[in-house]
Amino acid sequence: MSDDQFQRLLSVQDHDTRIDQLRHRFETLPERAALAASQRARQQIDDRREAVQVRRLELQRNLKRNEDELAVLEDRIKRENDRLYSGEVTGTRELLTLQEEVDGLRNRRSDMENNALELMEAIEEIDAEVEALAAGSVAAEAEVAGSREQLAESETVVQAEIDQENAARSTEAADIPETALASYEDLRNRMGGVAVARLRNGTCEGCHLGLSAMELDRIRHAPADEVCYCEECGRILVRT
Ligand SMILES: [Zn+2]
Repeated sequence: MSDDQFQRLLSVQDHDTRIDQLRHRFETLPERAALAASQRARQQIDDRREAVQVRRLELQRNLKRNEDELAVLEDRIKRENDRLYSGEVTGTRELLTLQEEVDGLRNRRSDMENNALELMEAIEEIDAEVEALAAGSVAAEAEVAGSREQLAESETVVQAEIDQENAARSTEAADIPETALASYEDLRNRMGGVAVARLRNGTCEGCHLGLSAMELDRIRHAPADEVCYCEECGRILVRT
């Protein structure tokens, strides 16, 4: 490989490092967290809406049952009352008993009417909450849409930078022999990103270890186009 190709390999690595950073930035955009937060907020409202609807149905059922029982009671009061004034019952004791029974039934009716009122009030309160939640849901949905839009905008910006880096990398890589590039790719995967390092003052800038005098001598005398590797870490060395 020529000096120029070695320099290009270093440049490819710079672009790859930058691309990795940009990809990381893409994945960890604050707008992504903001979107997740707005989605959670919407979910909470939806969950609450569901719970409130279930509660409303339950209250509605109780009210219906209460009304049915009230109708039956009403009937019974009317029948007993009719009997009371029909003249069929004449004995003082019987009349008294019947009157007491009617009074008891009326008390029960009054309790049930109060109960019905309480249920209706509770339903009204729930309806108000349903309305507020519906408005909250619309707002939360708008929030999610806004967050999604902002995320898309930021993604576009970062993606454009990634595309630019990729294009620049391709240009640099085009002139590098395929075997050297393959070796670089393989090393880069294994070495956590840095596959090619400068050899400066007898030290590999990849692992920061000094090479042995014998190895340095061997590298010094190797043909300039030979790809040399660090004896300590195995990275491709660029002689300076
Ligand atoms: Zn090294």
